[in-house]
Amino acid sequence: MSTMLRNGGLLSRRTFLAGTAAALGGAAFAPVRTARAQTLSTGSAELTVVSDGMMTLPLNFTFPDAPQDELVRLLEEAGQPTDAMRPDCNVTLVRSGDRLVIFDVGAGPNFMSSTGKLMKSLEAAGVDPGEVTDVVITHAHPDHLWGLTDDFDELVFADADYHIGRTEWDFWSSSDAMSQMPEDRQTFVVGARNRFAALDGRVNFIKGGDEVLPGIEAVDTPGHTPGHLSFMVHGAEPVLIVGDAISNATVSFARPGWPTASDQDPQQGAGTRLALLDRLATDKARAIGFHFPHPGAGMVERRGNGFVYVPA
Ligand SMILES: [Zn+2]
Repeated sequence: MSTMLRNGGLLSRRTFLAGTAAALGGAAFAPVRTARAQTLSTGSAELTVVSDGMMTLPLNFTFPDAPQDELVRLLEEAGQPTDAMRPDCNVTLVRSGDRLVIFDVGAGPNFMSSTGKLMKSLEAAGVDPGEVTDVVITHAHPDHLWGLTDDFDELVFADADYHIGRTEWDFWSSSDAMSQMPEDRQTFVVGARNRFAALDGRVNFIKGGDEVLPGIEAVDTPGHTPGHLSFMVHGAEPVLIVGDAISNATVSFARPGWPTASDQDPQQGAGTRLALLDRLATDKARAIGFHFPHPGAGMVERRGNGFVYVPA
């Protein structure tokens, strides 16, 4: 299964064709736009999406270089607030065989007061954190990584195995990470290193193309961060866990080429985003975006020169 990649880590046609067939068959997945857990199935694995809360970000934090009138119009047309971005934070769990895998761990108690709700959401969904066997990280931004530890700097998923991209780890650990980070995000470096330290050598380093766990394949999606990974959950009806490679369900779809300041490398981020959207639309595959409207699972359709997000 780990050979199903080509074109620099993007998903293979074969992988997505399986998704196409499934999508045309019509998967039973009722959209619920609340912070409640949502489940869907690949046929062999069961996915549950729970909420870590939502963030509030100034518009010019995410799209400082976009024409602001066009940005506001896009948001208005989508029924989104225009005073700020308020992205949801969707954490995906995959239950397959005797494993329970969590993809990103939310922000924990020390980021924003509106985030760090993962433990409550797990409880509401009937998931015991002690059941989690594997923690898989898309990238080391605070809203995805800082929830690794609690108020006492102890690992929340104490007995789990941890899987993180080698490139991502090396970037945040490198001596020049701080100098590459805008001043307002230098805490990201400190926070990432603290969490890495808590892992204390317990990390399984991964890269695009790896079959990280049975039926779960890492996909290189760099740009948002240098080592960002997405994850394909294989099955009769595969689902791509996108992470932040496509970060905004309105703007990233309608104007995928717009550089966003939330990407470490805006040019590379735009390239990755365009390629992913194109492939997802072509193959009518389901995707879960960490910051799409909760629960964040949907399809990609072409619209004009861009794309539109259709909740699954
Ligand atoms: Zn994020």
